[in-house]
Amino acid sequence: MATTKNIIELSENDVDKAFRRKQIYDAVFKKGIVDFSAISTLSKDLRNQLSQKFHILEVNEVVRKESIDGTVKFLFRLSDGKCVEAVFLIDKNNHVTFCISSQVGCRMGCVFCKTGTMGLIRNLSAAEILSEVLYLYHFMTTEKGLKDQLFNIVYMGMGEPLDNFDNVMESISLITNPTFFGLSPSRITISTCGLIDRIEPAMQRFPTLRFALSLNHSIQEEREKIMPIARKFSLDEIAARLKDLYAKFKNRFTLEYVLIKDVNMSKKEIDALQRFRHQAFHINLIPLNHSDDQVKRPEEKEISRFMQELEKRHFCVTRRYRRGADIDAACGELCYRENSNAQDFS
Ligand code: SF4
Repeated sequence: MATTKNIIELSENDVDKAFRRKQIYDAVFKKGIVDFSAISTLSKDLRNQLSQKFHILEVNEVVRKESIDGTVKFLFRLSDGKCVEAVFLIDKNNHVTFCISSQVGCRMGCVFCKTGTMGLIRNLSAAEILSEVLYLYHFMTTEKGLKDQLFNIVYMGMGEPLDNFDNVMESISLITNPTFFGLSPSRITISTCGLIDRIEPAMQRFPTLRFALSLNHSIQEEREKIMPIARKFSLDEIAARLKDLYAKFKNRFTLEYVLIKDVNMSKKEIDALQRFRHQAFHINLIPLNHSDDQVKRPEEKEISRFMQELEKRHFCVTRRYRRGADIDAACGELCYRENSNAQDFS
């Protein structure tokens, strides 16, 4: 793989006719073909030449786990042997979402997140991120038989996307480029733990790009205990900055609130959420997906009570249901350790 170029670098020096280059790109990015030998619109000679000079994927599937709800979690190996996870999500109406990673590990250290326990190992390149999307697209078109199916992308896998800003922006340029997927930026969501100084530069490049900010606590000192980034950007700053950006771009922000038993679900926290009762925000409640020594999943009645109280106070609020819970593919559960057995990837 290392001695060949990625197919996105194909130029007129390699294949001089523009229509031929388009044929190649359409086969890969519209039909989801990831093997040159399977591109039947090209001559055998050209297929051979391409496979000697280029590769299509930067990721190799190592293991997959399939959930009873249709969610499929993949472990991908990168060219240097490091691994990341990506998740294919499908609902009962066949709405498809690709959840992709932007870093190997993460240095943000949120206490409820398994990826955070790995620390940052390295950033993914734009081509690697594109490759995750391409592999999931290939899976959708060939194995699921969903051809010409629209999809959404969430940068919600391993890593903090805004901590790998340049590569993530470049990956969005590639994904939205009509030569490749031509996906609208409004179908792409960046999930951030709160690096709010990088949201505006991203919106200047892609004004309709969506953002989901992991809030998780409404009281400053408490948020600092579960999300170290809170020491850098306070809740007051987040509220003010995002309201300004809403006024400028008319693009609403999702606030993700992971419900943790006895941590962030009392009346005091609901009162403190008041600063986010504004048309700029939509609150997404996510009951914690696992329980361990430090954190516990709330009971159903506690979740309903919290949600009803927010609705009574006229917050715009929804609950996100667990998907892929039986394969640990749900939010905060992605974690691959290099020395662990790939068969046991959590
Ligand atoms: S929640 Fe996101 S930002 Fe926080 S440690 Fe996990 S991957 Fe990193």
